[in-house]
Amino acid sequence: MKNINKVLDILEETYPDAKCELEYTTPFELLVATILSAQCTDVRVNKVTGEMFKKYNTPEDFTKLSIKEIEEEIKTCGLFRSKAEKIKQTSEKLCDVYNGEVPNTLEELTKLPGVGRKTANVVLSNAFGQDAMAVDTHVFRVSNRIGIVNTSTPEKTEFPLMEAIPKKRWSHSHHLLIFHGRRICKARKPECEICPITKYCKYYKDNFK
Ligand code: SF4
Repeated sequence: MKNINKVLDILEETYPDAKCELEYTTPFELLVATILSAQCTDVRVNKVTGEMFKKYNTPEDFTKLSIKEIEEEIKTCGLFRSKAEKIKQTSEKLCDVYNGEVPNTLEELTKLPGVGRKTANVVLSNAFGQDAMAVDTHVFRVSNRIGIVNTSTPEKTEFPLMEAIPKKRWSHSHHLLIFHGRRICKARKPECEICPITKYCKYYKDNFK
């Protein structure tokens, strides 16, 4: 897409506060929060972790809890049973293999139970300041609507987006596309009438011109 920098510039002006909306103070807290965020709002995750991290916020803390106890902490999040298991197993592996530290490479992160490329990229870009492109459902939908990529699933979107967007802008683009997807380019009905990038948008051209 030849106007990609222009589109990102406009989104930056529109969302000057775009950033990770999960609250965390360490890479491990972000890892847990990102695991919890699957099919759950960031607001809900922040509520749960706000209480939980006061009591437990290291891999070692979670290895000492039973899965039932972790479930109890996170039960207001969707899919809490499988998430409790993932948090427990990931904590055990971090303690056994990584000395209780979260590794800072995609390869090592994706070896952790329940950590896919999206979660790993969120941790790499936000907690470790690396250039990474995490693709969630918003990033997938919005980037396809605009015409930055033409892909069929979130999983198939990471590499085309990395091709289309300058590397230095990968991490922030993730936040910009999520902010745009939550506020204007919504899943069920995009609010094109108030969108600042109609001029560059493929969906808009295809549907309203
Ligand atoms: S013009 Fe419509 S479809 Fe395109 S980015 Fe804006 S809200 Fe989304």
